Amino acid sequence: MADSWARVVAHADMDAFYASVEQLDDPNLRGRPVIVGPRSKRGVVLTASYEARPFGVGSAMPMVKALRLCPDAVVVPPRFDRYTELSARIMEVFEDFSPHVEPLSLDEAFLDMTGSEHLFGPPRRMGERIKAAIKEATGGLTASVGLSQTKYVAKVASGYQKPDGLTIVPMENAVSWLAPQSVARLWGAGPKTQARLHALGYQTIGDIAEAPPERLQAALGSLGNHLFELANARDPRRIEGHRVARSMGSDRTLNIDVSAREDILLYLRRSADHIARRLRRKNYLAGGVRVRLKTTDFKLLTRQCTLAEPTDVAEALYAAAQKMLDRFDHPGPFRLVGLAAHSLERPSESKQLGLLDEGKARALEVALDQLAERYGDNVVRRARDITQTTVTDTTPNLDFLH
Ligand SMILES: [Mg+2]
Repeated sequence: MADSWARVVAHADMDAFYASVEQLDDPNLRGRPVIVGPRSKRGVVLTASYEARPFGVGSAMPMVKALRLCPDAVVVPPRFDRYTELSARIMEVFEDFSPHVEPLSLDEAFLDMTGSEHLFGPPRRMGERIKAAIKEATGGLTASVGLSQTKYVAKVASGYQKPDGLTIVPMENAVSWLAPQSVARLWGAGPKTQARLHALGYQTIGDIAEAPPERLQAALGSLGNHLFELANARDPRRIEGHRVARSMGSDRTLNIDVSAREDILLYLRRSADHIARRLRRKNYLAGGVRVRLKTTDFKLLTRQCTLAEPTDVAEALYAAAQKMLDRFDHPGPFRLVGLAAHSLERPSESKQLGLLDEGKARALEVALDQLAERYGDNVVRRARDITQTTVTDTTPNLDFLH
């Protein structure tokens, strides 16, 4: 049993992402067949929830056909703002696990976990931790994760036990594990290629692994070689993508459009907490702060500033955001509130001294970090929300005064 792999590649893929987001945000949709796509009959299905899939509904299917197969399905128009926002949070989680993250789409990515056993444990434990962190960060969404020593096997592994799956394939088992699976699982084998492989008498990946390579090459050219290599679990491709964070942000699409200053401040306060925790976790200081507001007619307004002292303290980020809010000359309402820390830098010793001014606020926040680490982000966030609500309750309700 190889406890320490030469390479460790994880592939993480959210389960029925768009549909799961809709079910997360609207409890009425949970447990029901949901199709995300345009309401018009001429559109196609973007994602179907797992409740709709047994009826044969799948992505890219014409909506008319999907509704014929599953007449009780609830059709929900896509909300890309919201998917993008959650995607950013998911990518943040991936970056907490690896400096080498290669996103393939909004909801899936490869993570190079090589050499991080001492941080996260053996591959199975890594997978469990990635899954738990995603669930925590998104408020309940599940991902399926596969771990192996090559990108290809990790990708097939993540799809093996969906939804909420975790599949570990050590290198010594990879060829025999792939063997019984359909040639459709080979990367690069589209419907046309699959038909040609079937015509040659090949149904499974094992058939390809044992085929004479010359025969594959004669039939399919270089693609034949490629498929032969994959079928034998050989895939030397590295994980592309070294994302250096130059800014760190948190956009929140709001459940209701807001224009009241205190409502916007509440969102900024929560974002400041979230961003400061990430800055500390990744050992960055923010040199500046940016506030974004999106109006109900989708106009994006931005204000930004440079801080006198770089910081990783939520109080300081929030104070700057509060000042910037006064510089927007739009009455709202707004559908999205965003806060970002920009001009990120590593703390030097002189900068560390500057932090002493904020020592008290920082000490409190670090203590909260430790609580969050032990009991989960939500525990700490909930405590803060309670404080916020209490404060709001003691101030006069403007609606009421009107
Ligand atoms: Mg997915």
